[in-house]
Amino acid sequence: MNESNLWKRTAGEELVVPVLDGSRETEIAVVGAGYTGLSAALHLAERGRRVVVLEAGEIGEGASGRNGGQVLPGLKQDPDMVERILGPGTGRRAVAFAGAAPDFLFALVERHRIACDARRGGWLQPAASARHLPVLERRMAQWRARGVELSLLSRGETAERLGTDAYRGALFDPRGGSLHPLRYARGLARAAMRAGARLFRRSPVRGVHRTGDGWRLATPRGELRCGAVICVTNAYGDPAAMGVGPCILPVWSVQVATDPQPPALRAGILRDGICASDTRRFLSYFRLDPDGRFVIGGRGATSARGRARAFAALRRRALALFPELEPSWRFAWGGLVALTENRLPQLVEPAPGLLLAFGYNGRGVALATAIGRVLADRLCGAEEGDLPLPLLRRPRPWPLAPWLRLQLPLATGLAALLERGVAPRER
Ligand SMILES: Cc1cc2nc3c(=O)[nH]c(=O)nc-3n(C[C@H](O)[C@H](O)[C@H](O)COP(=O)(O)OP(=O)(O)OC[C@H]3O[C@@H](n4cnc5c(N)ncnc54)[C@H](O)[C@@H]3O)c2cc1C
Repeated sequence: MNESNLWKRTAGEELVVPVLDGSRETEIAVVGAGYTGLSAALHLAERGRRVVVLEAGEIGEGASGRNGGQVLPGLKQDPDMVERILGPGTGRRAVAFAGAAPDFLFALVERHRIACDARRGGWLQPAASARHLPVLERRMAQWRARGVELSLLSRGETAERLGTDAYRGALFDPRGGSLHPLRYARGLARAAMRAGARLFRRSPVRGVHRTGDGWRLATPRGELRCGAVICVTNAYGDPAAMGVGPCILPVWSVQVATDPQPPALRAGILRDGICASDTRRFLSYFRLDPDGRFVIGGRGATSARGRARAFAALRRRALALFPELEPSWRFAWGGLVALTENRLPQLVEPAPGLLLAFGYNGRGVALATAIGRVLADRLCGAEEGDLPLPLLRRPRPWPLAPWLRLQLPLATGLAALLERGVAPRER
């Protein structure tokens, strides 16, 4: 089956911007037109700064135009662990910031009237086994201790909300929601352009060079001179190119989607626009899109053959959860997620006027949007101590990342076996 991205097929009018041709000058250059870069450009342009965004492919070419569209609160690590890793002060700020990231995103969508099917139906984390319930209970207690009301659903209530009795209970988080990822990326881009940002597509940055008082960025057909650079290429770039060795592990996440399901079936599953990601190590995440297509995602593979197997495993998984689904599988696609060693995003300032942000660990829809604003704040003079994440001088290295990358096919193959029930459950 050829790979076909649901969001590209349903995003509507394409956003065509020019290719950088010749020599230009600006105040701030943003490399990468995903949510991080587009949000940074929007917030800078709104403050009257001159901004140019350079994108290697099309707007939203990376994870931002390919993801599950689940707007999720929090970081990959639970709140207590974040505070343990970052220390109580910074940790507390990071937890509050990431917990409020969906509020920030939905307010931004509203303010700029971005037509992206944004809906706040909540986020469910269903427990794949009874042994996962205490994990959810602890998560709920940690958020409650910070004033956030989550609730634990019984097995029956979970079945009622999801329309499957495959799970033993679930954690409901009202802060979450969903959107059309590519419409959202294009909407952010249009808002940034209305505010004055200039965007260029098919203009991959091949080199970032220091000049006397700023930077020079080279692209195949042009160059950009600027006073500051925000480099936000996430899993599609290579922060290791900054000379510190490996610091992210890019992994594939893949999805499959059906044609719109019959109205009667839609009414009985994933009630009230809820989206879900379960508690398995290689988790499945699923939702209905606004037209009623069933969309499910999970861990993928680097090779096309490996991805084809992962697509087949997802289809099996979907039918095991919802046997009544019409198996009209029309879409299958994937994208890269950037993992970091401690599962926390990194904000890096290797030199004054050069900023990097990456490593959302599969939680970037709301978080990348919010971090774009943080990058804008920093370039507009925010003090290091006022930022919600530690500002690193160098990316935190992850020397094992290349070795782990080699092991990924094995791990993914094992996960596929576990999916089929050939081997014992992973947790
Ligand atoms: C399949 C999948 C499902 C996901 N599901 C969810 C989800 O449901 N919820 C959630 O919260 N998160 C999800 N994520 C994660 C989320 O999509 C990302 O964290 C987020 O989009 C990252 O945004 P970004 O702007 O940092 O990076 P990206 O969107 O990846 O953007 C980086 C951009 O940089 C460009 N680039 C790279 N190199 C260069 C260069 N040299 N010059 C110019 N441009 C360059 C790339 O083309 C790309 O457009 C998912 C990710 C994937 C892949």
